[in-house]
Amino acid sequence: MTGWKTIMKALESWRKNLPPSQGGDGAGGQAKGDPNLGAADPSVTTIAERYKQAPWAVLVSTIISLRTKDEVTLVSSRRLLERSPSPESLLALPDGEVERLIYPAGFYRTKAANLRKIAAVLLERYDGQVPADMDTLLALPGVGRKTANLVLIEAFDMDGICVDTHVHRISNRQGWLGEAGSKSPDETEAILRRVLPRKYWKGINSLLVLYGQRICRPISPYCSRCVIACGCARRGVERSR
Ligand code: SF4
Repeated sequence: MTGWKTIMKALESWRKNLPPSQGGDGAGGQAKGDPNLGAADPSVTTIAERYKQAPWAVLVSTIISLRTKDEVTLVSSRRLLERSPSPESLLALPDGEVERLIYPAGFYRTKAANLRKIAAVLLERYDGQVPADMDTLLALPGVGRKTANLVLIEAFDMDGICVDTHVHRISNRQGWLGEAGSKSPDETEAILRRVLPRKYWKGINSLLVLYGQRICRPISPYCSRCVIACGCARRGVERSR
């Protein structure tokens, strides 16, 4: 397998050379805060920057983002956070208002119910604060490992590996997860925590999400254009372009 440093450099350089409208830095790079930069960023990162890494805003947008398109997450999160910038204010909203504000996010009814339960738990047990601890986050309603990792990374600048469908698929195809591979994102996270140097944990999600959307696509990946093809085991790839 190619070394991690080479892989990460290749992915970073690929992203940097994308035009800004496609999520890249553009030829000369862009200043942080440039509105173009956020346009194709994962929505939670964009919300985190907008709300200055406020843990409540990050947690809310992370819950909304599950199974939801980035554009919808951005609009729904902003609409809800304008009315409920804290757990107290969310609980004070009238019945049905959270659902209405986050619609059309996927599973908006379930998410609204979970957000209300989470707000109540935070007020009851944590003085209204979002805990910076994996196990405590996992005990909150509707919070799985992907959500907990993203909150720790974006809100608390802690090390974590956020494994979504793209990270899971590309890690398996590349052969990073060993001969047996991994059958679930949680298993992928556990293996990556062992094999991936810690300094790459936080950044791997945003690199691979964009790469999985553009190059290593779920069906028929563009292996002929791939910048990390050298050393890729192409495990499970039956058809490519
Ligand atoms: S070579 Fe193909 S399967 Fe391997 S990472 Fe690149 S696009 Fe994905």
